Amino acid sequence: MSKRQRALIIGGSLAGLFAANLLRKCDWDVDIYERTQGDLASRGAGIGTYRQLFEIMASLGIDNLEAKCIPLYRRLCFDLNGEVIHEINQLHTMSAWSTIYDALRKLVSENEYHSGKQLVDIEQNANKVTAIFSDGSRETGDLLVGADGLRSTVRQHYAPEVEPVYAGYIAWRGMVEENDFSPEDHAQIFENYAFGFPEGEQFLAYPVLGRTNENVRGKRAYNFVWYRPARADTELRDLCTDENGLCHGTAIAPPLIRNDVIEDLKTDAKRLLAPQLAWMVNQVPRPFFQAINDLESKQLVFGRVALIGDAAFIARPHVGGGITKAAIDADNLARALAAHASIDAGLAEFEQQSLHFGRGVVDRARGLGAYLEGQLKPLQERTLQQQSRDVRKVMQEQGAALTNELLSSDKPAH
Ligand SMILES: Cc1cc2nc3c(=O)[nH]c(=O)nc-3n(C[C@H](O)[C@H](O)[C@H](O)COP(=O)(O)OP(=O)(O)OC[C@H]3O[C@@H](n4cnc5c(N)ncnc54)[C@H](O)[C@@H]3O)c2cc1C
Repeated sequence: MSKRQRALIIGGSLAGLFAANLLRKCDWDVDIYERTQGDLASRGAGIGTYRQLFEIMASLGIDNLEAKCIPLYRRLCFDLNGEVIHEINQLHTMSAWSTIYDALRKLVSENEYHSGKQLVDIEQNANKVTAIFSDGSRETGDLLVGADGLRSTVRQHYAPEVEPVYAGYIAWRGMVEENDFSPEDHAQIFENYAFGFPEGEQFLAYPVLGRTNENVRGKRAYNFVWYRPARADTELRDLCTDENGLCHGTAIAPPLIRNDVIEDLKTDAKRLLAPQLAWMVNQVPRPFFQAINDLESKQLVFGRVALIGDAAFIARPHVGGGITKAAIDADNLARALAAHASIDAGLAEFEQQSLHFGRGVVDRARGLGAYLEGQLKPLQERTLQQQSRDVRKVMQEQGAALTNELLSSDKPAH
């Protein structure tokens, strides 16, 4: 009988794949259970990278990512007339969700990755944990890793009180094909970040690999994100109401967004943004939006169960580190388990490290979004942070390096 320890990993997206690969490297047997059948579709266009992401990928033998990344050297801020009013030279490298997913997925065998398995319940005693799936099957291991994202079943089982909290603004998004840019705009903008700061709002855009996932001139795309305040009980409800008058709560599938909502957005773009930026919004047939949330766990370990990735913490996208955070959580877990003979001691160390990191990232992103959040309050009720906006700081903080203090209070950086 095998003496190796066995981890049951719930969720086969990036956090689950990082956990499986890093734990296997530390001699664990790993099984991933993903409710979706087949490979996952890409989630998100551009992924801002961090040094730690490349280092963790390299520790798994994945060191050929650079060719699939787009380096951005400059950040430009445009005024309403289309003039550059701030320019900052600061490198940030963009990758793509599917680039990271494909590289990690290839390292996991079909015996280890179980598609179409939805976790519905968990049982555990002092040493073992059992996952129960919707098809009635059961699997028992020494550890269960909840890598099942924003609406985590694992988190809801142990900490149902922890829920996403709407931040008071949404992000409109869309992608423009590289070949649609005029030669002048392409030369000025395409390989840079572009920012715009309408009163109370924030617009940024950057190049991504595009639909074919190829880093080839002409086949790439430019992705915009436009943050706009929206009251939960009125504006957000209206935005999430379809043509038939049905309100979909706080999130609506992109094809169901009403035409008049999209037309209003395009008209607002012409009124509030530089012509180059307004052109992007108008060039995309159907931009879509997501409500911005904070999610903050108070506890990450429940006996032999650990939460990682988006299941544990979600920071607003201003830090742009969802994937790097998933990688660091999984790395913290594997390192802590490898450093201790006892699983419980390893889990305690993991929890300390990843709570510190998760809280730090959420706080940093909340600070960067404070000005947007404050827009829904009367001026006299806004905190100092909510009142002030330092445009150059916002530009610099996008994808800024993760500090040692953020990563850990006691551990050297990777
Ligand atoms: C629509 C979307 C767009 C995004 N865009 C960006 C972006 O542009 N840039 C960026 O950095 N990040 C982006 N993110 C975030 C980024 O994808 C995540 O931070 C990253 O994938 C790590 O997330 P995760 O693996 O923890 O969770 P997720 O990627 O959400 O994966 C959770 C997985 O668990 C599975 N699951 C859930 N419940 C169960 C269950 N009960 N049983 C079995 N399986 C289950 C889900 O099907 C899913 O595959 C986006 C996320 C989403 C959802």
